[in-house]
Amino acid sequence: MEGGSPDQESIGSGTKRSSVSSGKSRNRKEFLYRFVDSEILTAKLEDWFESILVKSATEKSAFDVPFELIELQKFDYALEGVSFQQLIRMPNAIYGSTSDAVEATAYLAIEDFLHASMKGLWEAFWSEDDPMPFSVACLYNGNLKFYQAEKAIANGKLGGLGATGILLNNPRHPHGKWDQVLELALLRPDIRSLSVGSDQLPSLSVLGEALLYAIRMLLSRSSSRLSFSECSNCVFILLVDSQYGGVVKVEGDVNKMDFDVKNVYECSAEWIKDHCRVSVSPIDRIWNKLGNANWGDIGALQVLFATFHCIIQFAGMPKHSIEDLAADHGSRLQTRRVERQLGDTRVNGNGLFRFQHCSGSPEIVEVQDESIKVKSEGLIMKLDVGSVLWLEDAEQRRGYQIADVLHNGELQYYIASPVEDPGKSLFLFVGSHPSQLEPAWEDMNLWYQVQRQTKILTIMRQKGLSSKYLPQLSASGRIIHQGQCRKPSSGGNCDHPWCGTPILVTSPVGETVADMVSAGRFGLDEAIRCCHDCLSALAVASSAGIRHGAIRPENVICVRSGARHPYFVLIGWGHAILEDRDRPAMNLHYSSTYALQEGKLCSASDAESLVYMLYFSCGGPLPDMDSVEGALQWRETAWSRRLIQQKLGDVSTVLKAFADYVDSLCGTPYPIDYDIWLRRLRRNIHDEDHGKGVDTSG
Ligand SMILES: [Zn+2]
Repeated sequence: MEGGSPDQESIGSGTKRSSVSSGKSRNRKEFLYRFVDSEILTAKLEDWFESILVKSATEKSAFDVPFELIELQKFDYALEGVSFQQLIRMPNAIYGSTSDAVEATAYLAIEDFLHASMKGLWEAFWSEDDPMPFSVACLYNGNLKFYQAEKAIANGKLGGLGATGILLNNPRHPHGKWDQVLELALLRPDIRSLSVGSDQLPSLSVLGEALLYAIRMLLSRSSSRLSFSECSNCVFILLVDSQYGGVVKVEGDVNKMDFDVKNVYECSAEWIKDHCRVSVSPIDRIWNKLGNANWGDIGALQVLFATFHCIIQFAGMPKHSIEDLAADHGSRLQTRRVERQLGDTRVNGNGLFRFQHCSGSPEIVEVQDESIKVKSEGLIMKLDVGSVLWLEDAEQRRGYQIADVLHNGELQYYIASPVEDPGKSLFLFVGSHPSQLEPAWEDMNLWYQVQRQTKILTIMRQKGLSSKYLPQLSASGRIIHQGQCRKPSSGGNCDHPWCGTPILVTSPVGETVADMVSAGRFGLDEAIRCCHDCLSALAVASSAGIRHGAIRPENVICVRSGARHPYFVLIGWGHAILEDRDRPAMNLHYSSTYALQEGKLCSASDAESLVYMLYFSCGGPLPDMDSVEGALQWRETAWSRRLIQQKLGDVSTVLKAFADYVDSLCGTPYPIDYDIWLRRLRRNIHDEDHGKGVDTSG
């Protein structure tokens, strides 16, 4: 233990009071000073934990849960309109969980997560205008003081970090006081796999640590000058790893503890057994594979709810109650329906999806039941090769036979031929069922792929944008399902599971650059042509103020049929940016620096993504990127060392020059001079049968 007394300041605040409380306070200070080793406490709790495990074998669960599901649901409704802005992503544990860099990033991510949680809650429930009186810092076990994670890591304290805490701001005590700790989060590897049994109890060693910190907090509060709300005799400790987390609630009157300073661990263990109520939540997922917190999921909700209670202890009851905010749930649901153009709210009025077998005489039977699988959880339709699907738009009904099932890394889509023109090939995208009012992640992507892309392609058509390097909207409408459609005449959908599912059909079709690269078919000529054709598509779109926002190898296709020379088409316009509030897709490898930093595009962003796509497609080594910070770091290093220019220079000098040009524009508001670069690229395109020919079409 370094730094002498760990808690001189924490408890010292009580010593100026009356002599009685001064004596009590001194005793507790001494007690706290000695109460630092979770391993000793854990050893004293072994029999207690054993008895709990025995109990859990016979009864349903060993510990009560801190929150009832119904409370969490109401809280979830209340949080619907609340945005939690998380900046640092949790690193993926798959990539070397032992490395210091990953652990450091995890500490930064948990600090950021707690900060985002607290800020979102403070602004939604307490005050939008008053500054938040709390901050987040890491606990250094060496002296039990708090430091900003960044500084602690920079000072080599990473190995000694024990927890991350939310603290009341106090400029006089920059390293925190224990009575001002609202909540602590313990970041421990494998919280989930350490859980014992199906009950998902945390292991005793983790629980022992949580209890040690909890008692320290309770003891410090018991002799604090701060005024707490009535419920200050309970504390919440969060247990998290890089994906999962749960909440431990420790509740009890520490005045009932025997403060024998010679036996601090025995006294504490006895108090836990006799006077303390410990409740433990299930360990649930908090961060997704990309390291983003799933704010609406139960894992994050439990943690948020605990933080909410902690804020009440220090700031009093919120200005807006959970009930107030949750009351808006109904109207928000209504707004969302309108946004998604559902029109009639009487259909599936409660937002729940009802499956009803259609037994009516089949009118149109082209889509065979067994060729369509509806995934029970997502209700996403999957079609088999050979099945025929009918869609209905404002004018007519059109049939499409599925010829191939494709996958773009995220979602399934199809190559289909119109029934009336079997020789023709088109891309067909099936959207998510409109009854999915609270779209899952996959449904959200489907929405971008189908509904949003339909909107963008329609706007392009309305604005008269035409280029062979842009996709064309061939048809869009709603699926016609098997059986009789009982949709009300006023609009909306019937009970059939596919009723109203939106469909988008586009042309042309081709092989994606991703597939060409993996098949070794993306060479020098392809790279230059691809750069030219994509830039040409971007030039046309940007003339109408439209940016792409999601350039990656899955969103560029090479079209071989119907043209003398293969050419590339920039597809996947669902994430296109039309106005300032639109957000581009986030991709650690292909997003532009500005998009990663600001969540927006600057005028050179699409070109920057195009350069990354060419760099990786031409064999640039694909780095492991598991966080936005890592992605930004890679960009900075790659550009400053001119790695991208070097790699593209091996392919062609014009691509190298283009990369230099984009580098000079990145992050600036200056527009790209498309004409110059299209001309330069065109001069470098080799057409096989013309030698060094000129493609005049673009
Ligand atoms: Zn129907």
